Amino acid sequence: MKALRFTAWKTKPSLQEVERPSPAPGEVLLKVAGAGACHSDVAVYDQFDESTVGPQLAPAYTLGHETAGWIEEVGEGVLGLTKGDAYLVYGPIGCGHCAACSRGQDTYCENAAQTPFLASGLGKDGGMAEYMTVPARNLIPLGDADPVAAAPLADAGLTPYHAIKLALDKLQGGGKTALVIGLGGLGQIAVQVLKATTAATVIATDMKPEAMELAGRRGAVTVSGGDAQAERIRELTGGRGVDAVFDFVGLTPTIQLAQKVVAKQGRITVVGIAGGPVQWDFYSNPYEAELTNTYWGTIEELHELAALYRDGHIEVDVTRFSLDHALEAYEHLEKGTLLGRAVVVPHPDAPAAATDAVREQVAMGV
Ligand code: NAD
Ligand code: ZN
Repeated sequence: MKALRFTAWKTKPSLQEVERPSPAPGEVLLKVAGAGACHSDVAVYDQFDESTVGPQLAPAYTLGHETAGWIEEVGEGVLGLTKGDAYLVYGPIGCGHCAACSRGQDTYCENAAQTPFLASGLGKDGGMAEYMTVPARNLIPLGDADPVAAAPLADAGLTPYHAIKLALDKLQGGGKTALVIGLGGLGQIAVQVLKATTAATVIATDMKPEAMELAGRRGAVTVSGGDAQAERIRELTGGRGVDAVFDFVGLTPTIQLAQKVVAKQGRITVVGIAGGPVQWDFYSNPYEAELTNTYWGTIEELHELAALYRDGHIEVDVTRFSLDHALEAYEHLEKGTLLGRAVVVPHPDAPAAATDAVREQVAMGV
């Protein structure tokens, strides 16, 4: 079968012929419906090396940590799963038995130093292939939802959902505001999760007018960049500042913007991994404003998010690419010419059993 493989540090992935895997005991073989291209993959193949990240991320493996598909085969000991049913894949894979893994938070596995990989598609073969194996525990049922359109929920949805859930106490009550910086794959879903789970006014910003326009259609108040940006955002909060800021970029200027507009006792969550340093001292942030980061989410949260999606609260903006054109999906991502998420579809003719409207976006530019 074909697979998009990351084979060496600082090297673009390449399409290769590999053997179709077989499910080990406790695993299933998934026929991949869709695998989203995440900006973190660009960091994996372009920026990281053995001196910056742990051995778990070392090549070679198949990319794709944001996947959904249909059960093709079940391994020994797997109960209650039926061939053909559609599932989302919870990517992180910890030891499975520590306190963190036991609550479904494999991202913070206490035995992570000994695990051979971080996640499906991050150290272990992922979803940019015709088939992949997945531990049965990591499957979230999609019912009759289209798994191609739903695939981005596994990361572009789960990561903002987790960040927002941890900030909910800042957004309860009347007159609260949230700010979303960066309206790409993650940011567009963040806007919708905020609208679906809080009564806060959602303010959103991006460098791309079309990304702001899309967020605006979903009820966000958009503010473009420039000198007056922080002032304009503060005005929208009645001068109090923003209760919860979510930065899906993570560069110095975006975190500085967050520091300028956050309210006293507010919260800034840096989700983007650009690594921009900022100053923090007693005087740099309003009193008791929290500044934190976040990493992916839990199995339980992915069940919650899938339920929100199936109830029609979230639309995922998908541009489809065949597996043969998977590298182009990443090229678009790097150039910023996508709106929403690029999803690689290895079996374009497979019936999706779709009941959800899939918003097809045509890749712009190139
Ligand atoms: P993306 O490329 O789809 O979207 C990024 C968006 O940010 C684009 O719309 C772009 O125009 C906008 N942007 C870039 N610079 C900006 C600036 N200075 N001001 C305003 N907007 C700006 O990327 P994505 O896949 O949505 O990922 C977003 C970030 O989140 C990446 O850094 C990615 O690595 C990271 N990420 C983190 C986690 C985590 O667990 N913490 C998980 C997944 C992705
Ligand atoms: Zn663990």
